Amino acid sequence: MLDRHDNILFDEIDKDGPQSYSRTYEIAPALLDRGEVLGLGPVSITALASKGDLPGEYIVEGSTRFTADFECSRCVEPYPFAASSNFHLRYRPRPESVSEPEEEIEITPDELDIGFYGERAIPLRDLAIEQIQLSIPMKPLCDDNCLGLCPQCGANRNRETCSCQESIADERWGALQGIREQIAKKRES
Ligand SMILES: [Zn+2]
Ligand SMILES: [Zn+2]
Repeated sequence: MLDRHDNILFDEIDKDGPQSYSRTYEIAPALLDRGEVLGLGPVSITALASKGDLPGEYIVEGSTRFTADFECSRCVEPYPFAASSNFHLRYRPRPESVSEPEEEIEITPDELDIGFYGERAIPLRDLAIEQIQLSIPMKPLCDDNCLGLCPQCGANRNRETCSCQESIADERWGALQGIREQIAKKRES
């Protein structure tokens, strides 16, 4: 028997009406499958689940909140991150029309939040993990203006100024000087 506090049970909604949930989970960062997540604090999720308009449809809305330590994708330093996000999801029975594989199910833009269920239970923990994954930026940045690492010496440019940049400029200038000298020599000859 699935725990009714950790799982949204559709049968229970059918029987007793809308159900509300509020849980906090410890989730291992590795479960998120994102190397940038170095640490993850307790994850809170609240949800209200009710029947939808269509037969077999259920609406789940709520929010998740969490804090984490991310690795900046530019300077590779850890930084704290906090997010809360609201979700509004619809679950419909998985279509079993295997006989008509050609038929495409049309999804209108406001239906992008539709999930299809096989089992009549949604584990809140999985829902929380899904929501965190959606909240993680594609390229986490400690600051929009993070200067990143020097590609030559690896110095963190947010903290120190290395002299690589100048020496690149010097080399380019030097090459240009060389070309100028050659041109000048050709003219002389
Ligand atoms: Zn950074
Ligand atoms: Zn450098």
